[in-house]
Amino acid sequence: MLPERLRHVIELLGRLPGVGEKTAQRYALQLATERNHLAQELGLALQALESQVRPCERCSNLADLVDGHALCTVCRDRRREPHLLCIVHRVQDLLAIERSSAMRGRYFVLGRLLSPLDGVGPDELPLADLARRVREDAVTEVILATPPSVDGEATALLLARELGALGVRISRIASGVPHGGDLEFADQVTLGRAIDGRRSMG
Ligand SMILES: [Zn+2]
Repeated sequence: MLPERLRHVIELLGRLPGVGEKTAQRYALQLATERNHLAQELGLALQALESQVRPCERCSNLADLVDGHALCTVCRDRRREPHLLCIVHRVQDLLAIERSSAMRGRYFVLGRLLSPLDGVGPDELPLADLARRVREDAVTEVILATPPSVDGEATALLLARELGALGVRISRIASGVPHGGDLEFADQVTLGRAIDGRRSMG
């Protein structure tokens, strides 16, 4: 029924999280029929996203590429406490913690969690990059903000062991975020309390 190019756009949109077929179709029809260049602007913006946005060189948060370097807004912010580092699983988690305004330091995004069942071992985590970051910034305190799931707890234990050897103070965000829950969907107050109420891991 629908033109092939339109079907293709629907198929692409439908691959995004939380976008079902009906929503994808609604978006695609809107883009195809409205006349204020949204489709063109969106196309250009997506191209720029692909070519100009990169993981931050220091923390793996997302950053604009400037003069061949990607440094995110948090890493560029000089008001941040340089010796306090918060370790998270994904960029979404970093954004959720930022919304709570409870974090004065900077971040390190792991990108993945330890997951023996899925065959993700310690060698697949960026432990060397993390250790280098801790040394270079003379980090004195690390907050482990991996999610309260089986994999998140296993990762926190591994990191506590690895970083403990570097002589930094280590704490784990307090419970309050439901077990198995996603930091991304925890409300700001809960996340703020989880960070303020962090407990020492040695
Ligand atoms: Zn950064």
